[in-house]
Amino acid sequence: MRANYRMQRLYVPDDLAQGRAVEPSTAQTHYLVNVLRLGEGAEVLLFNGRDGEWRTTLTQAGKKKVELTPVEQTRKQPPLPDLLYCFAPLKQGRLDYLVQKAVEMGAGVLQPVITHHTQVAKLGLDRLQANAIEAAEQCGILAVPQVREPVRLERLLADWEAGRRLIFCDEDAGTNNPLPALQAIEERRLGLLVGPEGGFSDAERKELRAFPFVTAIPLGPRILRADTAAVAALALVQATIGDG
Ligand code: SAH
Repeated sequence: MRANYRMQRLYVPDDLAQGRAVEPSTAQTHYLVNVLRLGEGAEVLLFNGRDGEWRTTLTQAGKKKVELTPVEQTRKQPPLPDLLYCFAPLKQGRLDYLVQKAVEMGAGVLQPVITHHTQVAKLGLDRLQANAIEAAEQCGILAVPQVREPVRLERLLADWEAGRRLIFCDEDAGTNNPLPALQAIEERRLGLLVGPEGGFSDAERKELRAFPFVTAIPLGPRILRADTAAVAALALVQATIGDG
């Protein structure tokens, strides 16, 4: 069932069950009452990534307090997509964008990967997770991907899960057309890897190509910015062998 885009949708950490009132955060309360000017009896959709989506009604519970009481489950909780999205962290603004697009494009797990040319020192995982939640709120996505702790590329490959194919976006691939390589993939459990602004090092490229579970793909004849490459690669993978 498609999402209802008319009603406001908010993420809450609380369990959601019929009749069990939930108190939104201060920021969410401010948004509902002062920005959207919702009053007693107004309806808001809530989701928590576990219990599906619930239609709730707003009740004033004091001057600055409101409660949202679940009335009816409007959508069941879908499973988390299986696509493992591996990305070299980018500078903050582009990273926020990349995380939001990966959620919109159906990534299930977001795995930051530290490569030779990664230029980002400290990763704000809470901020990345908040970006993933915001993308889910805006796009009606109920399965909220989790952002994992960063790993080095060597570790990611050494611990790679049997049975999962890793599609690696190689800006040095010899051809321009990704379709033959993608269509030759038999596995349905997939991972996707996009490099940093500075690209993969030759040693990394050599290491990646040596693994039998890795498929290198081009993303066309032009070098794309890493965040553009992320969206292009996700669209290609989802459309050819993903959930497209
Ligand atoms: N090394 C390039 C930039 C790399 S772009 C340079 O500095 O000029 C960042 C990442 O996006 C790459 O590591 C790769 O994963 C992906 N990417 C960009 N353009 C691509 C292309 N044409 N084919 C495959 N991957 C690409």
